[in-house]
Amino acid sequence: MTNPPTLYDTAIVGGGLAGLSLAIQLSRQGHHVLLMEKETYPFHKVCGEYISMESWDFLLQLGLPLDEWNLPRISQVKISAPNGLSITETLPLGGFGISRFKLDAALAAMAKAPREFSGPKRPARVMEKEVTSM
Ligand SMILES: Cc1cc2nc3c(=O)[nH]c(=O)nc-3n(C[C@H](O)[C@H](O)[C@H](O)COP(=O)(O)OP(=O)(O)OC[C@H]3O[C@@H](n4cnc5c(N)ncnc54)[C@H](O)[C@@H]3O)c2cc1C
Repeated sequence: MTNPPTLYDTAIVGGGLAGLSLAIQLSRQGHHVLLMEKETYPFHKVCGEYISMESWDFLLQLGLPLDEWNLPRISQVKISAPNGLSITETLPLGGFGISRFKLDAALAAMAKAPREFSGPKRPARVMEKEVTSM
């Protein structure tokens, strides 16, 4: 006898920042979430590794221990040309540096095991498989 298929409230294709954040938020509210990501965590992504401070509170509220990670703060931008000329400007809000390797893996771990949260949470099912048809 085979087990009946598991039913999910929500299926998310793509476990990047958007998919993982959504999976964590829905799971925390008690929804049964399936997330499909074609890569295997942790994995590298091409990225400037600059996150605006606008995102700080949201990521903290998701549960990332940003304060404990001692992340570099970025307060200036420098644009340079091949001839050596450059301009440097102060960023009004600024940001912090973090690799997608670290950020996505931490969010994926939280989606899989949201144990540090109160509420009706349940772990999302994170499948590291490519979606090829719907
Ligand atoms: C070169 C570059 C540099 C950047 N630098 C910065 C920066 O410094 N700071 C910043 O804030 N933003 C930066 N961005 C933008 C940032 O990467 C995006 O805003 C962000 O990744 C969008 O998140 P997302 O979850 O929508 O998509 P993504 O992070 O791209 O996630 C989509 C996920 O879906 C998965 N996927 C795709 N197809 C399938 C499939 N068929 N089945 C299963 N999984 C699938 C992918 O593997 C991927 O993990 C940069 C973008 C680029 C291209």
